[in-house]
Amino acid sequence: MATDHATRPNGAFPTGDFPAGTRAPGLPASLTPALIERLTAHVSAAPDAARVTTNAPYTGAPLADFRVSAPEDVEAAFARARVAQMSWAATPIAERKRILLRYHDLVLARQDEALDLMQAENGKTRRDAFLEVVDIGIVSRYYARTAARHLGPKRRRGAIPLLTHTTELRHPKGVVAVVSPWNYPLSMAAGDTIAALMAGNAVVQKPDTQTALTALWSMDLMYEAGLPEDVWQMVIGRGSSIGDALMDNADYMMFTGSTATGRRIASDAGKRLIGASLELGGKNAMIVLDDADIEKAAEGAVNACFPSAGQLCVSVERLYVAESVRDAFVAAFVSRTKRLRIGAAYDYGVDVGSLTTPSQLETVTGHVADAVSKGATVLAGGAARPDLGPLFHEPTVLTDVTPGMTVYDHETFGPVVSVYSYRDVDEAVALANSTSYGLNASVWTRDGARGRAVAARVHAGTVNVNEAFAAAWGSIDAPMGGMGDSGLGRRHGAEGILKYTEAQTVAHQRLQGFHPPARISPATWAGLLTGALKVMKAAGLR
Ligand code: NAD
Repeated sequence: MATDHATRPNGAFPTGDFPAGTRAPGLPASLTPALIERLTAHVSAAPDAARVTTNAPYTGAPLADFRVSAPEDVEAAFARARVAQMSWAATPIAERKRILLRYHDLVLARQDEALDLMQAENGKTRRDAFLEVVDIGIVSRYYARTAARHLGPKRRRGAIPLLTHTTELRHPKGVVAVVSPWNYPLSMAAGDTIAALMAGNAVVQKPDTQTALTALWSMDLMYEAGLPEDVWQMVIGRGSSIGDALMDNADYMMFTGSTATGRRIASDAGKRLIGASLELGGKNAMIVLDDADIEKAAEGAVNACFPSAGQLCVSVERLYVAESVRDAFVAAFVSRTKRLRIGAAYDYGVDVGSLTTPSQLETVTGHVADAVSKGATVLAGGAARPDLGPLFHEPTVLTDVTPGMTVYDHETFGPVVSVYSYRDVDEAVALANSTSYGLNASVWTRDGARGRAVAARVHAGTVNVNEAFAAAWGSIDAPMGGMGDSGLGRRHGAEGILKYTEAQTVAHQRLQGFHPPARISPATWAGLLTGALKVMKAAGLR
C-alpha cells in the first residue's frame, strides 16, 4: 500500500489506512473521437469561436475541446428557443410524455456510455455514476406520468357558491435558463430540465464546462427521443462572460451552485422580476441517537460522507453522536472508512473516486491542514493521494474540531467529516442547526417515531431517518431543496414543475356578482351579504 508521507500535513497521521488503490487507465473505448465530436457539435457557438479544453480528473489528460459561446450566441439561442417554445407549448402533454418515456428507455439502454462519460469528466466511481442513471429514470418516469395531473386545469371554489365558476390554469413561463453544476453531471443537468420541458417551456442551459459532455449526451438522447432541437439548447462559457446574457433573456432561472453565486443570481432575478430557484451549498449534519444500531449507523455514515468523494450537495460533513455510544460508533465508522478502496476504474470495483478539479483538491487539503494545525485529530485518511492520480484524496475522519477551524462551519464539498459528541437530544438538534445552511440531514435510531420527531426539529429541507440522503432525494413526489443559505425553491414533486409555470385564475361570474342589483340599495345589499357570510361560516364552508 502506497502511503505518501510527504503529502500529509504532518507526520503524526495514521499510515497504511486503505487497501491498495488502482491507478487510472486511459479513456474507455466507448468515448470515441466521433462521439465526442457529435456531442460538442451541439454547443450553441460560432464555428470560429474561442475554444476550451477539459481534462480527465483521473489522469489530467485532455478530454474534450469545446467552442465557447459568446453573449451573442446566448441571445441567438434564446431567439430560436422562443420560436420553438410556442409550438412545444401547443404540443399535447400526451406527446411530451411519450418523448420523455422514450428518453427514459434510451438512458437505461445506453447507460454504459453515460457511466463512462460521467466517470471520465467527473472522476467519480461507477457506482456513484450509476445512482445518477437511477435518478434520471425516476425523475423522467415521474414527470412523464404526473405532468398532466400537475398542469391540468383545476376547478377552484368560486367567490360566490354556485354563481362563480373558477378555474386555475398553468401556463409555461417561456424560456427557462438552467445553470447546472459538475458534481452530478447527469442528474443535475437533466433532472431540473425535464420538469421545465414537461411544463411546456424551452430551455437554454449552461452546464459546467468540466462536465458538459454528459449534459450534451443527455440532450442528444432527448433529441433522439423526439424533442425538437431548438426546444433544448446548450451554451458553454464562464458565468462572468455569459451569465448576464442568460439572466437578461430568461423568463425563469434554475440555478445550482454555490451560495455566493446564488445570492448574485437572486439579486439579478429580483431586478428583472423573474422567478429563480436556487439549489445551493450545505454543511449537512447526521445525528446518531443513543438507541441507534451502531453497525448500521456506521455503514450509513460511510454512505453519507463519501459518495462522489464528498462532492455531493446532500452529503454529510458533521456527525453528532450521543456520548454513550460515541466510542463504539467511532470504532465502527473508522474501521469501515479504512476498508474503502480508493482508485480509478471504469467498473464497479472501487468505493471512492477522485475529486474533480484542482481547486476542489486545494479546498480539501486546505481545510484538513487548517484543522490539523489548530489541534484537530485525524482518525482516518487525511492526505492527498497523487500515487493514484492528480486529484485523489483519502476519505478523512476528523475529531477535536472546534469553532475557528474552517471545516467547523464551512462547506468542504469533499470527503472530510468531523465527529462530535453530544449530551442530550436538545443539544444534538441545536448543534445540527448551528450553521446558516439547511439542505439535508440524517437521523439514526431504532425508534422510527422518535427519529421522525427529531427530524422535524432539524432546520433542513430534507431529513432522512436511518438513511443518508437517498430516501428523501428518491421520494420524488415530495419537494427537495434548501432552507437558509442552502437555497430558495424546491425541485421534485408538484413544486418542482409548478415553479416553471405561471398560475392563471379564470373566474366566470354568472347571474349575480358582488355589486347590488338595480332595485336594492347599497345598505340593504350590505346587510344581505353580511347575513350570507354568517350563514357560510355557520355551514362550515371554507
Ligand atoms: P459556482 O457557484 O462557483 O458555479 C456554478 C455555476 O454558476 C458555474 O457554471 C458558473 O459558471 C456559473 N455562474 C457563475 N456566475 C454566474 C452568473 N452571474 N450567471 C449565471 N451563471 C453563473 O458553484 P460550483 O463551485 O461550481 O459548485 C459547487 C457548489 O454547488 C457547492 O456549494 C455545492 O454545495 C453546490 N451544489 C448544490 C446542489 C443542490 O442541489 N443544492 C447540487 C450540487 C451542487
